[in-house]
Amino acid sequence: MLYSDAHLHVNPIRGFGAGKIARKFKSTGGWFLSIISLPPHYYGFVEPSIESYRKVLDLLIREASRAKEQGVIVAVFMGFHPAEVDYYYKMGVKADRLSGIVDEVFKLIEDALRMGLIDGIGEVGRPHYGTSPERFVFSETIMVKAISLVRDYDVPIQLHTEQGGYATAYSVRQLVDLLKIPVSRIILHHASFETATWSDFFGLPFTAPIKQFDEKYASHKWSNCMVESDFLDDPNRPGVSAYPWEIPSTVRKLLESGVLSEEEVYRIMVDNIVRFFRVKPP
Ligand SMILES: [Zn+2]
Ligand SMILES: [Zn+2]
Repeated sequence: MLYSDAHLHVNPIRGFGAGKIARKFKSTGGWFLSIISLPPHYYGFVEPSIESYRKVLDLLIREASRAKEQGVIVAVFMGFHPAEVDYYYKMGVKADRLSGIVDEVFKLIEDALRMGLIDGIGEVGRPHYGTSPERFVFSETIMVKAISLVRDYDVPIQLHTEQGGYATAYSVRQLVDLLKIPVSRIILHHASFETATWSDFFGLPFTAPIKQFDEKYASHKWSNCMVESDFLDDPNRPGVSAYPWEIPSTVRKLLESGVLSEEEVYRIMVDNIVRFFRVKPP
């Protein structure tokens, strides 16, 4: 069996880094990793400036090649996380000033896409926790900007959203239709069972957190399901996400107990990755 992680983070400064992660993941049957940028301050780049994002991009590209050296297929994503909006607001950098930085970051992202240095945009979206309406709506403007870029670059985009079930999936579908974007390019990440149900209904690809991928979640007949660890690679926050190698171990158990068939595992772990990330099958 082959296993994939459709959304994880790597941090060579605080944690294992992509090389070690890829080696261990590959040894447990892993073939594909989708590496998503972390907010710059996670890597110690605390200046609210485009420079911090240039450093993130360099780090990401370096990390992706370290993972590839281990023989796994890698897709790299760079975005502007809704939590970054909160972070900068707390520093006193509000929407008026932040807008300029966001525009520069998106120019950087566009250049990187054009040069083939990254494969998609993300994560962008809306906070999943309570914050001020102002920050919420500003985060959403970043998401709209990112989704409109899909039209020009035809790349996948990973959305971080509230887990609002119907409301979440419906609002994303509405936006995608208004912006005339192919729905298959939009991946709703960290989808709860309820949000996943409505994502499937509206034709949106989604990633299930392996920690929530229990018998009930796994046994549902999904069309657009992938699985993620959302690993943070931060030894100071061990419990907040799963390890990528928990994907093979959990899925193997679901296979052994008959919750999933081999065909179903193959669809989730390989076919859907090939469909939505447009990578070559292993
Ligand atoms: Zn997220
Ligand atoms: Zn994430």
